[in-house]
Amino acid sequence: MKAYVNETLCVGCGTCEALCPDVFKLEGAVAKVIRQTCTDCCQSAKESCPVEAIWLEE
Ligand code: SF4
Repeated sequence: MKAYVNETLCVGCGTCEALCPDVFKLEGAVAKVIRQTCTDCCQSAKESCPVEAIWLEE
């Protein structure tokens, strides 16, 4: 799985970074994907994003 962030939707809450810091990192007010290949926590981050800005693809 690979992780993506819709930076237009992201509100910079930091939840994805807190749950999955190997993959997501806040840069200013948006989350960036710093390691696109997902670990198990990606799904949690996706489900916890308040604005559904994270998606995962094979
Ligand atoms: S959880 Fe969603 S809104 Fe919050 S920083 Fe991550 S991508 Fe942005």
